Amino acid sequence: MTSLELEERYSRQVLFPGIGAEGQHKLTQARVVIVGCGATGSALASLLGRAGIGTIRIVDRDYVEPSNLQRQSLFDESDAAESLPKAVAAARKIASFNSQIVVEPQVADLIPSNIESLLAGGDLILDGTDNFETRYLINDYAVKFSLPWIYTAAVGSYCATLNILPGKTACLACIFPDSPRGALETCETAGILNSVVNLAASVAATEALKLLSGANDQLRRTLLSFDLWRNERAEIVADHSRPGCRVCSQREFIHLGGEGRPHITLCGRNSVQIHERRRPLDLAQMTERLKPHGTVRHNDFVLKFWLEPYEMTLFPDGRAIIKGTTDTAVARSLYARYVGS
Ligand SMILES: [Zn+2]
Repeated sequence: MTSLELEERYSRQVLFPGIGAEGQHKLTQARVVIVGCGATGSALASLLGRAGIGTIRIVDRDYVEPSNLQRQSLFDESDAAESLPKAVAAARKIASFNSQIVVEPQVADLIPSNIESLLAGGDLILDGTDNFETRYLINDYAVKFSLPWIYTAAVGSYCATLNILPGKTACLACIFPDSPRGALETCETAGILNSVVNLAASVAATEALKLLSGANDQLRRTLLSFDLWRNERAEIVADHSRPGCRVCSQREFIHLGGEGRPHITLCGRNSVQIHERRRPLDLAQMTERLKPHGTVRHNDFVLKFWLEPYEMTLFPDGRAIIKGTTDTAVARSLYARYVGS
């Protein structure tokens, strides 16, 4: 693409005085990592992809389902019919509206052992996750390596977002020393309004544009929250770290060390994720093995195996999501029986 074409594509953003030609050039050079590509991640990727962020890496562990389509704006019915991994479907969709940027899909669960390779090289990390376990892990990594990240959360009609600039602002653990939802972390999706997601993502994406275009003096230094149903808005000052904070003051990175990380997690309303070990799977071979036991289908990215009343989804890295139970023992025994122990 010539510089004239680039100028035309982003002309409305270049005309905006806060960004200008110089800011736009910085955006085209920028690299962001979006962790989690559900509703918030979709909206972030869409906004930042259209804004011309040069490289967007999308990390997501899940696949598209029909119930996602109400709010996960990058996906179509055909993605759900194919059970495409969200990272892959997102990359395809972004390429259809901006083929000039680089999108790197990573179908993976962000865990301590892969966080360095998945987040390496990013200028900014954006939170599209749905759980505090992963957010604390990102926070540890970001503070340790002094990398900015933006926390974003939405549930029901409520959303909240916070810019974390290590050394300059509070970190996530300064504000939430413990997970606000308690010890048991799940990716349970309670009810949620799609409009709330888009509001949170719009605020976070704007902060990303400020940071990446060099408008650091405009960055918000508060935890900002809205309840759109109740017409409430709140801000909590977050412009300095909390004395004694476990992460940014004591520099204890327990999540990065993998302590307290469960290998089996509840995932969604009625399913369990197993990610105990790395066990590369050949999905075609696995399909042949499972055929005598139930209905099997696979593509390049996932394998689905139906064994009433369960539905098992296998990924090439050996991860499994087992639907139809919240009992981790049942899930583990199904995995052991059909995949291997
Ligand atoms: Zn802190």
